[in-house]
Amino acid sequence: MHHSVTPVGIVHSCFKEKFAIPRQPRLAPAARGVLELLPPFDQGEAVQGLEQVSHVWLLFLFHHALEDKPRLKVRPPRLGGNRSMGVFATRATHRPNGIGQSVVRLDGIEPGRLLLSGIDLLDGTPVLDIKPYVPYADSIAEARNAMADAAPAAIAVHWSDAARLQAQTHAQRIQEPLVALIEQCLSQDPRPAYQVPPPERVYGVKLWDVQVRWRYPQPHFIEVLEVVPAA
Ligand code: SAM
Repeated sequence: MHHSVTPVGIVHSCFKEKFAIPRQPRLAPAARGVLELLPPFDQGEAVQGLEQVSHVWLLFLFHHALEDKPRLKVRPPRLGGNRSMGVFATRATHRPNGIGQSVVRLDGIEPGRLLLSGIDLLDGTPVLDIKPYVPYADSIAEARNAMADAAPAAIAVHWSDAARLQAQTHAQRIQEPLVALIEQCLSQDPRPAYQVPPPERVYGVKLWDVQVRWRYPQPHFIEVLEVVPAA
């Protein structure tokens, strides 16, 4: 049996590459984006009533992780990348049909667009459906997941004076909470779990239109070195 699906919208996100995107939504509340609705869903009727809702579920396509051959087992980064698990026990991006789901904050509704925050979505992600979060049904007080019971521990993020000033300047220019975004994303420790880098190794990622560079002077301590216009 074969079904085809068509996106209802495309996300324009602060995340321009997969590296350093938090592993789940709401870990970086300053991660913002716009969901641009595609015809015929951009006309207003499709979102009528949504102004009564604070959070929405997005069902989307992991469009940068699609594969022809289904995997039955995956190695989730959360488990250090060296233990394999049944694909249905994980939220791995490599999965049958490549479908992801995230609950995100709905900050506003504009003609043909939804303003979102707390996202974990790559720029350009095709969204297949949007549903309101329903607190009484979607929040389960006694829910348990022994593999992922709590948010990953945050690590310390420090700034060089120059880098903080650069981030503040760019934040003003793009009118985005860039300092908070960088702190929230880096405190999730984006490096692969198995990597213990030498202190001089410099990591980088593009957020919005800037390149952020940092290093690990100690294993659980990040120093932001610079925030400069991306090439
Ligand atoms: N909350 C979703 C879920 O549970 O289905 C996503 C979880 S997945 C572990 C989160 C990762 O997906 C992010 O860290 C990012 O690297 C990756 N990602 C986000 N958008 C993507 C896309 N469009 N294509 C491929 N990977 C993507």
